[in-house]
Amino acid sequence: MKTVNDFNFQNKKVLVRVDFNVPQDAELKVTDSTRIAAVKPTIEKILQDGGSVILMTHLGRPKGAVKEEFSLKNIVDEVSAVLGHPIKFVEDSIGDVAVEASKNLQPGEILLLENLRFHNEEENGDEKFAEQLSLLGDAYVNDAFGTAHRAHASTSVIAEFFHETKFFGLLMANELKAIDKVLKSGEKPVTAILGGSKVSTKITIIENILPAIDNLIIGGGMAFTFIKALGGKIGNSLVEDDKLPLALEILAKAKENKVSVHLPSDTVIAESFNNESESKVVDIYEIPEGWMGLDAGTKSREQFNDVLLNSRTILWNGPIGVFEMPNFAAGTIALGESIAEATKLGAFSLVGGGDSVAFVKQFGYDEKVSYVSTGGGAMLESLEGLELPGIAAINN
Ligand code: AMP
Repeated sequence: MKTVNDFNFQNKKVLVRVDFNVPQDAELKVTDSTRIAAVKPTIEKILQDGGSVILMTHLGRPKGAVKEEFSLKNIVDEVSAVLGHPIKFVEDSIGDVAVEASKNLQPGEILLLENLRFHNEEENGDEKFAEQLSLLGDAYVNDAFGTAHRAHASTSVIAEFFHETKFFGLLMANELKAIDKVLKSGEKPVTAILGGSKVSTKITIIENILPAIDNLIIGGGMAFTFIKALGGKIGNSLVEDDKLPLALEILAKAKENKVSVHLPSDTVIAESFNNESESKVVDIYEIPEGWMGLDAGTKSREQFNDVLLNSRTILWNGPIGVFEMPNFAAGTIALGESIAEATKLGAFSLVGGGDSVAFVKQFGYDEKVSYVSTGGGAMLESLEGLELPGIAAINN
């Protein structure tokens, strides 16, 4: 893996694809700058070598049109504050103005290009557009893990124009190392926790990770498809009836791979999908008619805790209850505690994919696990075993 640490960027203008697709409030103020802070090490390395940095990113979905609310002008101050450097801005990502701005850039300076998606050619992976971007720099760095699963002009096509001078940024390298640590070089026992709503969206992940893991904890809404397939009574709980045979197949494959599957033994049930609904804990195989399981029960939490405290490598994707409702968040909080405790005892823990990342940040577990992925879709596709276009472009 060729990273920015393998090159000296003195006097080089370095095009760095970042993912500054940050959330903003109604006044367009950035509400979470994690993605900006995440690329600081890469930028510092280039600046310390005596190079200059040209940042390129997309923001939102302007769909090829120039729209004020998606302008990167609105985030320049935040980028500058988080990176701790003045930021120059140019109002287009290609063409004369961009070329001029790049020409004037001095070592130690940072230039931010306007939103790449103001040009349809970005998402279309247009070669001409990629070539025009490439004219701005002497080297290309991809540090945008969040968009690494897209074959866009700036994330993959552009690499064609930099044979010897294309590199992974340090964030990208860390993301790849974290996934490798779980799927290839993980210290055993390796435990994966998969939760969330549906089995259908996680099948490819399960199939891909089975050979690498020792324990599979299945929780959340997707557990009920397994419980029903095993003959349990699940009341009105979430279920994918067309996936019952598949659930049994997964269990059989797990057995072939000598993976211990841990399904919840009890569940917190409610009469309606509502935080204020009356609730109680029951055996997960005996949910009364008219009730639905919305969280892992107390016994399940202990059962998962035992598995996790005996694990050396942990992968977590998906909440094990409806954590958005405070009355059904306790199971996922207990899981976060167990993973934090296991991490303290020396396990490597990786949290990745949409909702579990939102959860660890909201409840403060992001500091207590080993690594929180910055890529939702990119993380899930990596776990599915796919080679992401943004990664292939640098490797090949
Ligand atoms: P996913 O996007 O598939 O990872 O699913 C995440 C969603 O699953 C979250 O919004 C949770 O509220 C939801 N979820 C977790 N457990 C349950 C459950 N028992 N019943 C319904 N939804 C659930």
